Amino acid sequence: MALNPVLGKLVSKRVVLASASPRRQEILTNVGLRFEVVPSWFKETLEKSSFATPYEYAVETAKQKALEVANRMHMKHLRTPDVVIGADTIVTVDEQILEKPVDKQDAYRMLSRLNGKEHSVFTGVAIIHCSSKDNQLQTEITDFYEETKVKFSDLSEELLWEYIHSGEPMDKAGGYGIQALGGMLVEYVHGDFLNVVGFPLNHFCKKLAELYYPPPKQNVQHKKYDSVPSVDTFENLSDGENESSHFTEHIGARKLDSSGIRSSGAMYNSETSSGVRTGFMVPLENRNGVSESTAKLPSKILELLDGFRASKALFVASKLKMFDHLKDKGPLKAVDIANEVGTSLCGTERLLDACAALGLLEKTPEGYSNTDSANIYLTSDGECSLHGYIIHSNDHLWPLFTNLESAVREGSRQNHRAFGKKAEDLFKALKCWSNHRIYWDYYHSQEVTQRFMAAMHSIAHLTARDVATAFDLSQFKSACDLGGCTGALAHELVQIYPNLKVTVFDLPEVIANTSYFEPSGQHTAPVTFVSGDFFKDNLPEADLYILSRVLHDWPDEKIHVLLSKVSAVCKPGSALLVAEIVLDERKMHPPRAVLQSLSMTEGKQRSGSEYKQLLEKYGFTNVQIKITGNLLDAVLCFKKNLSL
Ligand code: SAM
Repeated sequence: MALNPVLGKLVSKRVVLASASPRRQEILTNVGLRFEVVPSWFKETLEKSSFATPYEYAVETAKQKALEVANRMHMKHLRTPDVVIGADTIVTVDEQILEKPVDKQDAYRMLSRLNGKEHSVFTGVAIIHCSSKDNQLQTEITDFYEETKVKFSDLSEELLWEYIHSGEPMDKAGGYGIQALGGMLVEYVHGDFLNVVGFPLNHFCKKLAELYYPPPKQNVQHKKYDSVPSVDTFENLSDGENESSHFTEHIGARKLDSSGIRSSGAMYNSETSSGVRTGFMVPLENRNGVSESTAKLPSKILELLDGFRASKALFVASKLKMFDHLKDKGPLKAVDIANEVGTSLCGTERLLDACAALGLLEKTPEGYSNTDSANIYLTSDGECSLHGYIIHSNDHLWPLFTNLESAVREGSRQNHRAFGKKAEDLFKALKCWSNHRIYWDYYHSQEVTQRFMAAMHSIAHLTARDVATAFDLSQFKSACDLGGCTGALAHELVQIYPNLKVTVFDLPEVIANTSYFEPSGQHTAPVTFVSGDFFKDNLPEADLYILSRVLHDWPDEKIHVLLSKVSAVCKPGSALLVAEIVLDERKMHPPRAVLQSLSMTEGKQRSGSEYKQLLEKYGFTNVQIKITGNLLDAVLCFKKNLSL
């Protein structure tokens, strides 16, 4: 198929996806495209009635999203991306545009309108080629849309509500996700399935082909394949450039030699387009880079296979503070970095090359420099630094996962193997059973406490805004964040709700270290820190209690103690906000949460209906779930008027 050579055109370019949608990211990652994700800040507020057709609205929104990112990156970093991709998916029924539901009632309204009927899903896509001239952003915009018809079966009210309670509809256009539970609602799909998921990949590749290989008309051939969408292929590529030299897969790239044959690897075709050696077939390309074989490269499997190398390269580069050394500097040579960090030249060079291959660094003849993502996420003082969590992953999670086989065989956590001490001994020595507490007691140093807090802080910092705004909390005057750690969420809450006073309640050793994490230049008066043990001590009074990333950590007996205490202290009408990853009902999504479970804590990740059931058991009602699209979701519930 001709998709790979077309995507190969983007390999040497800095490609940015202006969308936070994990589904779009997955579709593009699966075909080997390397890109950065910079979610657009453009609000989807264009006046729908000013567009003659729904697709014009979707295309314009996609364009504005991409332009906002292109402009912001150009202004902010003075480094312009080469290509920005924007997309907007809408659902239309009876000439009405449905976007994402704002709450459950809205989801119900949308799904009821779709019930038993055929509707259209439009995705507008904008591909913006950017350049900079005299420091001015120049753009060339290509846009298109794709329509797919979808029909829902006749669905009962009960099924609709069950689906709504799963939480899945909330971040999806039209209120359903065809790739997961929502697939059960659908009777048929006419057109590109991936368009309904959120990105019309086939049309996108055709557009790229038009842009990069404008065909002499007589040479266009239309090939149809059974297993993949049909695409146009061009026997003579107009620019004569050898595509194979740019071809790369997402991870584990293989180059083609001058005859267009892949150079190595037992899983790859190594002789002719028909001479397949092993089960995995990949497209072979002729001298013009045109595919002759269409079997699919198992890019997902290869990515997983190499994932541990990639993770460890990231961990070590972070631990050695390579990204810090490169921050705000021009390109540096490997030898300079090795000297500064105190590492071997050959090892440093290999690590820097690995980081460049993974898209974390840029490599030019002048040396290595940080990508914008590295500056923002990987430096220890970056805007949205994940440094703390990366170090925690290296020092704490990696040793645990190294013992995964034993964990699975024995069905227990592996702290004794990972950290050289039996879990039972650790338990005995402790008055508190938190995993994190075990970690502290084992190493028992302030440095480790701070490292743990930095890990929690980096994730909380990234998720706090979405958790704080998942529901309108302006009715509350006081909040208590139980296990609130560094106060990252508390500080965000008081910024968003100026009338709210927040108490962070956590263990004494944590509270003793919170000053290291105070936001600079922020008015912190409404945040108070109180030390205590939420299983034993009295909880501070508040009309909103918060449990963020606490419930998943504990076994049922401890949850019983904690939720009974929270329920007892909550007055009727007061509320509890839980921030956790909410699993879908099949407990398969998001994979991050499923993978986290492998570390075998005594707690567990829960689905929306499990959280609902759990909270109702402790006297909470009106349980609302918001899937935020960020790393944490939010669940809000209110204390019933009746006592337990
Ligand atoms: N809420 C923070 C967040 O979302 O980033 C931190 C989550 S962290 C996984 C769990 C927090 O619970 C830690 O800050 C830990 O110190 C705190 N914690 C554990 N056991 C506790 C206890 N018995 N009493 C109070 N806090 C506790």
